[in-house]
Amino acid sequence: MQNVIEIDGSAGGGQILRAALALSAGTGRAFRITKIRSRRPRPGLMRQHLTAVKAAAMICSAETEGAEFGSSELIFRPGPVRPGHYEFEIGSGGSTVLVMQAAVPGLMRALRQGGKASLTVTGGTVCPMAPPFAFLKETLEPHLQALGWPVRFSLVRHGFYQNGGGILRMEAEGPFEPVPLCLESRGPVLRADAEVLNVGLPQQIADREVKVILRELAGRCSTGQGPKVITDAGAPGTANAVLIRLRTTAQTYVFSETGSPTVSAETVAKKAASDALVFLSRSAPVPSRLADQLLVPMALSAGGRFLTTRPSAHTRSCAEVVGRFLDKTVMFEESDAGWLITVPAFGEE
Ligand code: ATP
Repeated sequence: MQNVIEIDGSAGGGQILRAALALSAGTGRAFRITKIRSRRPRPGLMRQHLTAVKAAAMICSAETEGAEFGSSELIFRPGPVRPGHYEFEIGSGGSTVLVMQAAVPGLMRALRQGGKASLTVTGGTVCPMAPPFAFLKETLEPHLQALGWPVRFSLVRHGFYQNGGGILRMEAEGPFEPVPLCLESRGPVLRADAEVLNVGLPQQIADREVKVILRELAGRCSTGQGPKVITDAGAPGTANAVLIRLRTTAQTYVFSETGSPTVSAETVAKKAASDALVFLSRSAPVPSRLADQLLVPMALSAGGRFLTTRPSAHTRSCAEVVGRFLDKTVMFEESDAGWLITVPAFGEE
């Protein structure tokens, strides 16, 4: 009988579950999670979370109990990981990027000694409270490659929240060597660009967002005509999002916020801009939303450390889950330059 790690899901949202799935598939350790998303308005496993469970389970031949829509408890016992070609459909506009977050780490374990794998997920590519494809491709992918993961993500087709139908693909080929990631400084931001995605919605929404971006990033936006407005992304339905890209010679950092009918256009643009401005005002090379998404890949690769801004609740809860699977602690140290987070590696003495 495998020793089962107990996780309390009530401390956060779907991210605790996805981190546990990824770590379980990546380490071969079983877990039981209770009170899944219990403080969310619609608690339990929603479609995106259930697809993440099914994807991770298939990749590591896991036995599961409680893998049902709405379930508040899940037992996950991983078996051998298998490289191969996998396809999953969320069945709604839930985030394809978040399903990747849970499923890719198991595939990396499968490819460590060689082989090829691909993972295709159908659902949403621009979703509220989730990384947009641009963040995955331009910000996260280069960091994953830097820690040794041979991943390449591509967008086959956009799909928006509600309608879904977007297709996201990951392709990878092993073998590969895990590399410790050490990010303690960054180069200056040389360029800032902004983009407003405004599909099937009144032009005045984009106009108001553009106005806020120009005001908030005054003097910093490199595009002469201001933010680019995209009104057709090749997908049906409606979508609104503000994306700001800050570029150094080495990296592109994407900051974004997705619009919703209950939030004003000004608030959406201001939120994306304020995240970018926080990054610009500090020298830490890892923005807050990248920090929580690096912890699991680093723990399953060769560990390392990075400097970031104040850790979010997502980063804290993800670090907690990493600690449970590795039986080691993710360390947080505050200094004048920011927060240094040291991530141990699985299997390291
Ligand atoms: P829930 O509905 O339970 O909150 P969820 O499954 O949608 O759950 P969260 O637990 O909130 O997910 O996790 C969302 C993840 O998406 C986190 O890793 C967070 O850093 C990331 N994220 C959210 N918004 C952005 C963004 N604009 N850019 C990059 N990453 C983002």
